[in-house]
Amino acid sequence: MPDLREAGDILDGPLSGGRVPPTYIPMKNAIFYGLAAAYADETGAEAIIGGHNKDDKRVFEDASDRFFASLESAFRVSTPRLAKVEIRRPLKRFTKPEVVLLAAKLGVPLDLTWSCHAGGATPCWRCEGCLGRAAAFNEAGVVDPLSLKKV
Ligand SMILES: [Zn+2]
Repeated sequence: MPDLREAGDILDGPLSGGRVPPTYIPMKNAIFYGLAAAYADETGAEAIIGGHNKDDKRVFEDASDRFFASLESAFRVSTPRLAKVEIRRPLKRFTKPEVVLLAAKLGVPLDLTWSCHAGGATPCWRCEGCLGRAAAFNEAGVVDPLSLKKV
C-alpha cells in the first residue's frame, strides 16, 4: 500500500506537535482492519487475527484495547456476517522480545518476517522498524536470520 507512505507528511505538519513517532501512519489499523473486514465478510471468516504486541499499544492508540473494541462495535452494525467476526490479538500480552522468544521456540520461520519501513529489498537497519526489531532480538537472545543477510 505505497500511498500510505504519503500520510507520513503529518510528521512535518502542525498536527504532530512533536509527539508522532516516525512509524506513525494516521488510521493505519482502521485501514488494514477495514480491508480485512471486507475480506472476512466476503469469505465468511469468524475472526481477524492481529499480531499486535504489548509494546504497540503504548505508542499507537490505534493498537489499544479501546480501539479494537470500537472497531468490533462498528462490525456489529455493518453486515450480518461481519457482526459475528471478532478481532483476536493473541500476542497482546507479550512484549516484542517475548514475541521473538516465543516465535523462536515454536520454530516460526523468522527469516520470512519483515519489520523495515524503508521499502527496500533488504532491511535498512536504520529505520524505527529495523531498530526495534534488532533490539527485540538482542533482548530475547535470538539471532535474527535477517541480520545474517546484511549487505
Ligand atoms: Zn528499516
